[in-house]
Amino acid sequence: MPLIPLEHTVTTTSAKQQRRLIVVSNRLPLVLHRNPDGSLDSRPGSGGLVTALLPVLRDRGGVWVGWPGITDHGPDVDAAVAATADKAGYRLAPVTLSAEEQAGFYYGFSNEVLWPLFHDLQSQCHFDPAYWRCYTAVNHKYARAVMAQAQPDDFIWVHDYQLLLLAADLRREGCTAPLAFFLHIPFPPLDIYLKLPWRFTLLRALLEFDLIGFQTLRDQRNFVQCIRTLLPDVRVAQRNNQVHLPDGRRVRLGSFPIGIDAEAFQRQSRTPGVVAAADALRAELPGRELLLGVDRLDYTKGIPLRLEAFRNALRQYPELQEHVTLIQVVVPSRDDIPEYRDLRFEIEHLVGEINGEFTRPGGWVPIHYVYRSVDRLDLIAYYRAARIALVTPLKDGMNLVAKEFCACSVDDDGVLILSEFAGSAAQLQHGALLINPYDIEGMSSAIYQACFMPLEERRDRMRRLRRSVSRHNVFRWVNSFLETAIASDLDAFPLPEDYVPSTEAEQAYWDTEFAG
Ligand code: UDP
Repeated sequence: MPLIPLEHTVTTTSAKQQRRLIVVSNRLPLVLHRNPDGSLDSRPGSGGLVTALLPVLRDRGGVWVGWPGITDHGPDVDAAVAATADKAGYRLAPVTLSAEEQAGFYYGFSNEVLWPLFHDLQSQCHFDPAYWRCYTAVNHKYARAVMAQAQPDDFIWVHDYQLLLLAADLRREGCTAPLAFFLHIPFPPLDIYLKLPWRFTLLRALLEFDLIGFQTLRDQRNFVQCIRTLLPDVRVAQRNNQVHLPDGRRVRLGSFPIGIDAEAFQRQSRTPGVVAAADALRAELPGRELLLGVDRLDYTKGIPLRLEAFRNALRQYPELQEHVTLIQVVVPSRDDIPEYRDLRFEIEHLVGEINGEFTRPGGWVPIHYVYRSVDRLDLIAYYRAARIALVTPLKDGMNLVAKEFCACSVDDDGVLILSEFAGSAAQLQHGALLINPYDIEGMSSAIYQACFMPLEERRDRMRRLRRSVSRHNVFRWVNSFLETAIASDLDAFPLPEDYVPSTEAEQAYWDTEFAG
């Protein structure tokens, strides 16, 4: 159940808030699977965002538009989508994409251009003009699918980097509905954004939205720097919260750090099945402190540097040998892209080297490596069993694993080691041990500190973390975004009270732009 009642949005604002909601994202919130005999299995999607948005869709009415996750789109796909939606009580509108469109739009432009560029890794970008053409065509296709559903009084909420051009397409198609956008990944600094060959078109297209939401103030500041530099005819005002366009339009900007369904994680981590699984894990590795890494296979997650830091910790602090075990879960992802395949080999090579160097005859193996996706309850059992979570991305929009670990640390004795370049660092820095993921020795010493941190300090830190994660959950995020989007006052969105910009640069920005 949501911690913030959904009626909240309805009771506190005007009739305008009764607008239907149209959610648009790359994927629909369902999982379709075609069996070898050609039949289709279908089930509703899960995950915090879906859990938080679907009740709002049900309450307000509206529809979710997106790709159903399957390229051989026949009438059976439409029927399966409709049946899943009916059963769950909301409407889904599938966008049909061919395998070729999916390759250029999703694997190509989204994941070989925007993903690395927006994570500051421009050397990984393939600026292929064919990708761009496909991206623009597919955004247009999504726009037509939205127009087929939209009514003039609807409120349209578009999600993420796959659909950056959608507002411009919708306006060209004659859409007059209010349009809001939330970017789930970071927005890069000016010097990096400048590399994008289509930098002007993309910024102009984004400014067709009425509200643009970012994960952190840092992302918002980067966006503002880009528009100030590249679009001299626009003016940014009101503490960087409003963009004024030459035609008199106003676009609002805001930072909305996304949360998780913390209560569900807490509840599940106390269920007998999870407790038994966590106990079994600990019993298999008696007397060891468990360190945990859980990441999608992605070069932004900093897995090789983390493994290097773990190796360095074992060398530099020999007392850690036979005392700690790292469980590293890597969830397969984007394996059509060569860089991802290379990364998997690099990780597995390092795991082999480290285990080869340190494994002892008594049965101690320093790294337990899991390369598959794990069930939710197994994941929660890992979170609950682990003493220390290593969340060390080179850059991350938010990083939900960090928040999930805290929510599941119900004994209040876990330690979160967190990259200062994860969006969640701005909120979690008071309880976490912050590290620079490029600083191998710094990470090693954080591992050592976490292993020998007194119980009282662990409890104190983890309580703060869990309070913050619970309070700023995903339901609050959805409600606050919608309130802000539909009301006119951006201050309506409360940043977590313990939110502090995470880096020195961001701190300086905070001091000059926002304090007093
Ligand atoms: N997760 C998952 N399957 C797994 C392991 C993890 O679905 O086998 C989930 C995890 O619970 C979390 C999400 O994947 O909600 C990862 O989100 P995060 O923000 O940390 O990183 P992203 O993968 O979105 O970049």
